[in-house]
Amino acid sequence: MQDATPTRIGFIGLGSMGSGMSRNLLRAGFELVVHDARPEVLDEYVSLGAQAADSPAELAAATGTVITMLPTPAVVNEVINGPAGVLAGLPDGGTWIDMSTSVPSIADDVRRRAAGRGIAILDAPVSGMSVGAAAGRLQIFIGGDPDQVQRLRPVFEAMGDPERILHVGPHGAGYAVKLMINQLWFSHLVATAEVLAVGVKAGVDLGVLRDALIASPANSNFLEHDLLSILEHGDYDEGFAIALACKDLGLSTEVAAAVGIPVEVSAVVEQVYRRARATYGDRAGEMTPFRLYEDLLGTSLRLETGRISA
Ligand code: NAD
Repeated sequence: MQDATPTRIGFIGLGSMGSGMSRNLLRAGFELVVHDARPEVLDEYVSLGAQAADSPAELAAATGTVITMLPTPAVVNEVINGPAGVLAGLPDGGTWIDMSTSVPSIADDVRRRAAGRGIAILDAPVSGMSVGAAAGRLQIFIGGDPDQVQRLRPVFEAMGDPERILHVGPHGAGYAVKLMINQLWFSHLVATAEVLAVGVKAGVDLGVLRDALIASPANSNFLEHDLLSILEHGDYDEGFAIALACKDLGLSTEVAAAVGIPVEVSAVVEQVYRRARATYGDRAGEMTPFRLYEDLLGTSLRLETGRISA
């Protein structure tokens, strides 16, 4: 059983999120070993004081504590269980923290296969976009053993907002909370886009419509705040690719199916997201489903001089 906070961390997955998170671990004084499928990104980390590893196994052997921040469960599985994967190098008593938005089955399998080796496993997915990752202000939802969460708290605090690092339950609970947050947020986006498009097409000024909605019981944080990135800046958040949003929506409906809850609304939202992905491409931002409705209107919905107009 591990008893001290590690000082040496291995980080795999240096993309939109992982780049900011790993740099914040370095800034907080952790010794860092990094690995990514794109070797060209590694030099920059070496210049910042990190070491680069050629494989997940090498990284795991060199650190004993591994964080993964990878796109999909399939990639997490390959990085953990592949021939030169984390499990092949991690010493007994090592630690694996998966911060990807994923599902518990891979870790469940690792737990079975590595039974008796004393490996600590936590799921700790995040919210807060690439901006929050760079600023070290992520919200983190941790599933796993409370003693391990306590031991690893300084690691999480290097990447997240201390007030919003939440231990949400046993292993798997972190993944579930994160998927439900995304499901609801994407549902807000689609529902809000529909309502604004219909109201504007029916002749209501967009600013008047939005003000009326905000003043009503139908208000939401999405309408009041998050949507402003589109309405004020035309920013559909390319820091989070719609291909990953579709992955999250697929996982969310999978979880629903696994627990036997019918989710008609979630299924429709997933289809709208898939339509936006097919229309605008994999790298389009997570908020591009809003554009489907702007395309129907034939105009962008934008704020002008403090008001919003179509
Ligand atoms: P990304 O695609 O920008 O980065 C993924 C990184 O993993 C890339 O650097 C890629 O080269 C690397 N990678 C892929 N396959 C690999 C392999 N086999 N071995 C080693 N490295 C490999 O993705 P991201 O936006 O940083 O998202 C990462 C995770 O965080 C996803 O699960 C996503 O759903 C979640 N997430 C993203 C955001 C966001 O705003 N971007 C917010 C919250 C959660």
